[in-house]
Formats: sequence, C-alpha cells, structure tokens
Amino acid sequence: MRLINPDAIHQTVISAINYITYHPDPELTPILERALQNEDQEIPRDVIRTILDNHRLSPEIRIPLCQDTGTTVVFAELGCAVQLEEPLEISISRAVAAAQRALPLRASMVSDPLFSRTNTLDNSPAIVHLKIVEGDRLKLIIGQKGGGAENMSFLRMFNPTVGMDELIDYIAQAVVAAGSRPCPPLILGIGIGGNFETAPLLAKRALFEPLGRAHPNPKYQDVERRILEKVNAEGCGVQGFGGKNTVLAVHILEAPCHIASLPLAVNVECHAHRHIELEVSRETD
Ligand code: SF4
Repeated sequence: MRLINPDAIHQTVISAINYITYHPDPELTPILERALQNEDQEIPRDVIRTILDNHRLSPEIRIPLCQDTGTTVVFAELGCAVQLEEPLEISISRAVAAAQRALPLRASMVSDPLFSRTNTLDNSPAIVHLKIVEGDRLKLIIGQKGGGAENMSFLRMFNPTVGMDELIDYIAQAVVAAGSRPCPPLILGIGIGGNFETAPLLAKRALFEPLGRAHPNPKYQDVERRILEKVNAEGCGVQGFGGKNTVLAVHILEAPCHIASLPLAVNVECHAHRHIELEVSRETD
C-alpha cells in the first residue's frame, strides 16, 4: 500500500485553487480568439475582447477571474492501493477553507440551504466525487463552479422514443431561454444515460474534458456539433448581446441506462471556465 498523508492533499488542493482562481482553462483563449474572428456584430466583439483582457490581466494583477469564486468541485480518482490517513472529503474541504482565507476568495457556501442559509465563511465544504480505480495514485480534477451558470443547468428523464431533433431542440431552447444569466459564451457538459443521479454527474464531468474536444464516437460527435450550431443560430450571443457565439463547446459523456429511460442532464458553464487536473505526489515519509 502507498500511504498519502493529508498534508500532501492539502498542499495540492491549495496550489490548484491558487492557480485556477486567476487562470482559465488555457484552451479557452484560442477558442475565444476564433469566436472574435467569426463574430460580425460590434457589441459582442467588444465583450469578447473584454473577456480576453480579463483573462490576461487576472494573473498579472492577482484579481480573481470572476467575483464568484464558486463552489469547489473535485472529481477524485483514488487508486485501490492507496491508503489515506483521513477521509478525502475532510482533507479537501480543509484545504478549500485555508485557500479561502489565504487568497482570499469570496465565501459563497451556506450551511443550511433552506432555512438559516448561514454562510460557512470559508467557502467550504467542497463537493467531492470519489471513484476507486486500480493502482496507487490519487488524481484530482479541481474546478470552481459559479452559481449563475450552475443555476441554469437542467435534468430531464426522457422516454427513449424521443427523437433526436426533439432532444436537440429541448437543449437549445433551454440554453437560449437562460439568456444572459449563465454569462455566455458557454460550455455545455451533457450527460446522457445512466440514471437520475448519474446523468448530472456525467454532465459535470463532461465540462472538464479537454476543451472543444470532439467525442470519439462520430454519432455523438455529430450530436455535439448539432447542439452547438442550433444554440448559436438562435442569436442570444455573448452576455445576451446577440451574435453567433452563445456556446463555445459542447461535450457529451454517455453511460448505459435502463430500457425504459433516457436521462439527459446539461451542466451549463460560463466563460470563467476554471479547472485543473493534478496528481497528489507526496507520500508519508
Ligand atoms: S456565471 Fe461565471 S462569469 Fe458569471 S458570475 Fe458566475 S462565475 Fe462569474
């Protein structure tokens, strides 16, 4: 067994948050530059230029990419030959709290969602999705997810007889109806299949796929392309100011599902697309 101590996890998460607070996904810049080139209208062109300036300046002047430094979302792959000294969620949430105090970040989490809505004051807890895999490694995908875009995400349990056109129209209409609220230009993570709880997880995980990657299956790749084109043809545009660039990328992840079901979840992500993938490398001596 390989023993990974909580300190190593702590340091990895703090350095990840320190990085993604000021740096968007590096693939985002060339995609935004292409969007600027293909955009005809002046106001959306100005907005894209402003977003690009923001991305350039944020690490230089150490001001977060967005005032909403988000919920910390972690997808963890834990090798079955790794032993931890404390539950992973505890190590990660402690690191989030320490990072919030050190940077500082906006405290965006409340302890009770319905009644007191008391702020936890340290942006904890993180939301951690754990998968046990083979091997002796701990890999973490760490993202910051803003509330505005998350609020526009959706899930629907379709009947499997639904036609492809209907499915694509449903997604496009929901994204267009969201208007400027999720801060377009957007990235759409789409989960298809699984069940009621796994489709949204697939959708969230799909956001962290390499940006703009095409699905390896040409049929799914075609659906990604059709969704992108359909939404962008509706003219909502960057920050709702019109134009051709409501959505920059669509990523689908799929999973087997019940014969009676076709779950569909869409996780909407804004242009402050912040995430990083790291391996926790330091062990207990
Ligand atoms: S949706 Fe994104 S860009 Fe808009 S306020 Fe939230 S984190 Fe910031």
